[in-house]
Amino acid sequence: MNNFEGKSVLVLGGSRGIGAAIVRRFASKGAKVLFTYWSSPDDAEVLAAETGSKALRADSGDRDTLIALIASLSPLDVLVVNSGILGAGDPLEIPPDDIDRLFRINIHAPYHAAIAAARTMPAGGRIILIGSANADRMPMTGLAAYSASKAALKGMVKGLARDFGARGITVNVVQPGPTDTDMNPADGPLKDVMHDFMAIKRHATGAEIAGLVAYLAGPEAGIITGAAYNIDGGFAA
Ligand code: NDP
Repeated sequence: MNNFEGKSVLVLGGSRGIGAAIVRRFASKGAKVLFTYWSSPDDAEVLAAETGSKALRADSGDRDTLIALIASLSPLDVLVVNSGILGAGDPLEIPPDDIDRLFRINIHAPYHAAIAAARTMPAGGRIILIGSANADRMPMTGLAAYSASKAALKGMVKGLARDFGARGITVNVVQPGPTDTDMNPADGPLKDVMHDFMAIKRHATGAEIAGLVAYLAGPEAGIITGAAYNIDGGFAA
């Protein structure tokens, strides 16, 4: 397993769920880990104490704050943009402002964060976005904005991979399927529906997603860029 001693890693949205598992993974492998949170200060504080990482309060929906924060923390060796919101519901009922906030957090933040980090990221740097298997398969109602936001990341990494490849920086998106978190609990009401779509009929763990992120952040993955990786039990197969 990769060793990240001496590497500086920023995880946007690290207080809970998949993001917390990613923080744990990098911290356990020696990285200096910083992570942001927004509405869960208690979880953030506990995780920071547990892992020796540093928690910073920053709203991924606030572009200018995010760009300034990343500039102040740079240079970064690894940026992981995990913060994301679901926004499920009848599209005829969801307020447009809620949809715009979803797009700010799920699309604008990854783009602006990636650019801000890339300004000073050294060769060997890694930018990893957390997308969703819903970019490839959206078999349920009420999630059009969410799936659109995650599909946008696939195009984003292809372009950014071209922009930063010459500098030795890779840009990829990891696309989880159902994963056991507050957003999508393994014992939630939709679990049987989701498992019906899967070849391996269970939720992933955050640690499984973190394992793929760590692989993509490591030296063996230096030739992988502009790619989308499903880690979804066959949800999108
Ligand atoms: P959770 O809702 O369990 O956790 C979301 C994390 O993102 C929290 O740490 C939260 O911090 C942070 N976050 C949310 N909004 C903001 C914001 N505005 N600013 C800063 N941080 C924010 O979600 P998951 O762990 O399940 O999901 C993580 C990522 O994985 C998301 O991008 C999601 O779309 C994606 N994903 C999840 C799947 C699943 O089945 N769980 C499947 C496919 C993709 P705080 O609470 O402090 O605000």
